[in-house]
Amino acid sequence: MKLDETEMRILVELQKNGRLSRRVLADKIDVSTPTVSSKLEKLENMGIIQGFGIGIDFRKMGLQKYYFRVETDSLSHEEVKEFFIGFELFRSLEKLEGDGYLIGLYIREFSQIDEAIKIIEDHKGLKIIDTWRSQDQDSKIPNILLDEHIPIDISCYYCNKPIEGEPVKWKKDSKEHYLCCSSCKELYEQKYERLQKRKEEMR
Ligand SMILES: [Zn+2]
Repeated sequence: MKLDETEMRILVELQKNGRLSRRVLADKIDVSTPTVSSKLEKLENMGIIQGFGIGIDFRKMGLQKYYFRVETDSLSHEEVKEFFIGFELFRSLEKLEGDGYLIGLYIREFSQIDEAIKIIEDHKGLKIIDTWRSQDQDSKIPNILLDEHIPIDISCYYCNKPIEGEPVKWKKDSKEHYLCCSSCKELYEQKYERLQKRKEEMR
């Protein structure tokens, strides 16, 4: 299951400016205002758009954040920055004590980690010390580049694999939850109820 072109264009426009009115959005992407409204409602129900001021939950679009700790013995700060900003899924760069940097990258497919490692290791003067996968939700980060011509797969909310074909939907708490199959739906419902219960107990 992929977002359609109108949905992608809405995300792209909102990413540039999260305060566009529905009418202005409709004009910009050349569809009717009711179409924009129903698409926005769908994206909000899916939890992809979170309220106003656009937060996009990239995990629901199958993106995982990875951190690489790298060291350099010969590159300047500018050179390191320039190199990593060139990555398609670049997210963040932080200078650590000494010669180290902490680089955040979004990874869509597992194979991209190996690719990224190879590109980094092949670059003269850079060495990877460690790699971690983030466990953080990391939603509400609007500054990753979306491209309306590259439709994004929606991931199963339970197993995180891309949903092939029609999703299994579960309506709960005025949101629609998208699952890849009925067994994921069942497991997701159980997990959801467990979490809700724990939340109530903590109150
Ligand atoms: Zn699944």
